[in-house]
Amino acid sequence: MQKPVIACLDLEGVLVPEIWINVALKTGIEALKITTREMPDYDKLMKQRLAILDEHKLTITDIQNVIDKMGPLEGAVEFIAWLRERCQVIILSDTFYQFALPLMRQLGYPTLFCNQLEIGTDGKILSHQMRMQNQKKHSVAAFKALNFFTMAAGDAYNDTAMLAEADAGFFFRPPAHLPKEFPQFPVTQSYAELQERFAKAGNLK
Ligand SMILES: [Mg+2]
Repeated sequence: MQKPVIACLDLEGVLVPEIWINVALKTGIEALKITTREMPDYDKLMKQRLAILDEHKLTITDIQNVIDKMGPLEGAVEFIAWLRERCQVIILSDTFYQFALPLMRQLGYPTLFCNQLEIGTDGKILSHQMRMQNQKKHSVAAFKALNFFTMAAGDAYNDTAMLAEADAGFFFRPPAHLPKEFPQFPVTQSYAELQERFAKAGNLK
């Protein structure tokens, strides 16, 4: 008999827009446009981002208001509904619960594994806490150990370990250089294509 299926999805770039890029656009703060593409050390990048927010006196409420207006990517709500009817779905993200909340509301509160921000009583973001290193890869490995068939989709470098660990891993709208570096992961450009890949790999009806 076939194992039950778990689909692990990256959040930003797969279901919702890049949160920090949008915060940078909406607030007009150029320095917030820097991502892991320019600064691969995520911990250093987050400390820099929080220092910038502090400098501009931006609280968690200001940031949540921006994120609330972003909305999911077009077709994401229907895609995740389709998937959740057919298998278990877990979102594995390097973002933070407090940032993701407005978007999770719009996606119907799917299960999300991510990280936490420490917020002061005045709404100031004091620090960020990564639950663990490489949680995407470790989560998929744990689901496999629990005897699930695992599928995954992501768009960036920080997803490649998860895609490699999964029984079936797919890129979704990656930057052009990534598939050249990781030709083993099939590339999908639309939810219809990803649905087709998932349906075939996981034998979803
Ligand atoms: Mg992403």
